[in-house]
Amino acid sequence: MKHIAANLRAIQDRIARACESVGRDPSTVTLVAVSKTFPIEAVRAAYDLGLRHFGESRLQEALPKLDAMPTDITWHFIGALQSNKARKIGERFDVVHTLGSESALKELAKSSRRVTTLIEVNIGDESQKAGISQKDLDAFHQVVLHYAQVDLRGLMTIGPVLEPEQMRPLFREIREEADRRKLPWASMGMSQDFEVAIQEGSTHIRVGSALFGTRG
Ligand SMILES: *Cc1c(COP(=O)(O)O)cnc(C)c1O
Repeated sequence: MKHIAANLRAIQDRIARACESVGRDPSTVTLVAVSKTFPIEAVRAAYDLGLRHFGESRLQEALPKLDAMPTDITWHFIGALQSNKARKIGERFDVVHTLGSESALKELAKSSRRVTTLIEVNIGDESQKAGISQKDLDAFHQVVLHYAQVDLRGLMTIGPVLEPEQMRPLFREIREEADRRKLPWASMGMSQDFEVAIQEGSTHIRVGSALFGTRG
């Protein structure tokens, strides 16, 4: 697990340089360590290095990690939010990044606690990808506001697989859509492109492989 320490130093360096390039304070960027597919030992190693935000994309895979790890972790759900699991996900995760349908919203709102949530935006309007298309965002945002159990904080996007510089206009769109709605958070940027995302105003970067290594 020694590679995780070295990887984390490299990531923190990249974050610092990206922030410096646009005059941002690095403390305004949350590093979400995406531990999906990695064993609990990897989560523990990252925890011991000081990380407190972790991202998982499947409820069943995440539960043993949630149960075993200390309670001062903020757990982020970043996977497909299926309606039949949304309620449980809302109860076990602290932040749900991938709200993208009315049926999932209804179930999420049944959680026994208020759920901190982001709307997933399908920015390239990719047909196979989840999320709300930009043209439907206004209407969906209005619906979300009807649910007191859902605490909407921001927008999230995955986006198409492109070169980092090609992602820039898409990240900028998301930040502008969030600002227009007075939503503070934008969850965007992954291992390959988080510098560009930070420069465009990301508040949550979701980093897996750059931290833990390639997924098998
Ligand atoms: C897996 C995943 C990530 C992390 O991707 P890396 O390229 O490994 O950093 C980020 N966001 C989502 C939604 C993911 O599913």
